[in-house]
Amino acid sequence: MSEGTFRICMLPGDGIGPEIMAEADKVLAALGARFGATFVFEEGLLGGAAIDETGSPLPDETLERAKRADAVLLAAIGGPKWDTTHPDKPRPEQGLLGLRKELGLYANLRPVRVFEPLAEASSLKPEAIAGVDMLIVRELTGGLYFGDRARVRDERGLRAYDTCDYTEAEIERIARVAFEEARKRSRRVHSVDKANVLESSRLWREVVHRVHDEEYADVELVDMLVDNAAMQLVRFPKQFDVMVTENMFGDILSDEASMLTGSLGMLASASLGDGAALYEPSHGSAPDIAGQGIANPLAMLLSVELMLRTSFGLTEAADVLAAAIAEVLDEGYRTADIAGEPGTTVVVNTAEMGDLVVERL
Ligand code: NAD
Repeated sequence: MSEGTFRICMLPGDGIGPEIMAEADKVLAALGARFGATFVFEEGLLGGAAIDETGSPLPDETLERAKRADAVLLAAIGGPKWDTTHPDKPRPEQGLLGLRKELGLYANLRPVRVFEPLAEASSLKPEAIAGVDMLIVRELTGGLYFGDRARVRDERGLRAYDTCDYTEAEIERIARVAFEEARKRSRRVHSVDKANVLESSRLWREVVHRVHDEEYADVELVDMLVDNAAMQLVRFPKQFDVMVTENMFGDILSDEASMLTGSLGMLASASLGDGAALYEPSHGSAPDIAGQGIANPLAMLLSVELMLRTSFGLTEAADVLAAAIAEVLDEGYRTADIAGEPGTTVVVNTAEMGDLVVERL
């Protein structure tokens, strides 16, 4: 039995956001009752809803609430209503980017877990992906996306460059995140780099090994070159437990890995920094189905699971929630987006899916 009080800043956002957040709310209430934990919710405006109400996609009040929370739970933001190319008009994404920056989120965690009953949805053979349960840890604030870049014209004509730049401290802190997560799982880390070519990767490898040898010798560490990692992900994904890598490699590999599961409505993500972490489904606000009550709430609920596990250390509650979701899928219940062949499953709406999970908690 776990006990404690946890403050959650809830940001329902736009489109299907409020519909799936309502299910997160239900599930947290049920888990709190069962595990003797108290979840205190503070709701905030973000994205399009915040623009409509205050003119800003990230109002100061929301930022303050996020900063004083133990974790931030975001549903989704954006939609055609706020699409604009006008440089002076606020856009919903600015709210999310601003929040990530203000919270100093430097590590992105994406679990990739294949639920057996949905294995057919993957583009890989079911036997290749059965049992896949891995976590990609991507460095989020350094590397090629943040290094020096320019376009210059010289005697060779027009050219452009981007720089992949990492400090020892940046590598150390992301390595620690990966090793800590591995300790909660199967204690195996694949560190992905391109150390045969890139100097930044050689420093990466050196620092990851030092952190490992000094602090995490109980975790198995395997180096893998990024080209091989891209291949191994589709060849034999079950070999991976935690994969840690720099920003751009992680951007590409996490998208590749997420598609092993075959369905966008099932993917959660976490972004960690020094303060409150941010949890959100990987999908967007699905404006095409907003307001119909048919959205899949499972990526949102899996984000709740990740929050319980990662920020609150409520491992048992997280396990129970994961098991409840797996059970509901095993029993054949699906929202429309993952329904499969007609007649093979029972199609339910957003609220029914949330209720089915709650019943099993
Ligand atoms: P999307 O993920 O919103 O939707 C893509 C497709 O998947 C749609 O057909 C949608 O109906 C479906 N889908 C997504 N989530 C679903 C769910 N939970 N249940 C059932 N079906 C689901 O991506 P998009 O259409 O490219 O973007 C729509 C809006 O969302 C845009 O404004 C975009 O900027 C925004 N967006 C926000 C985030 C975020 O909040 N982090 C991420 C991606 C996109």
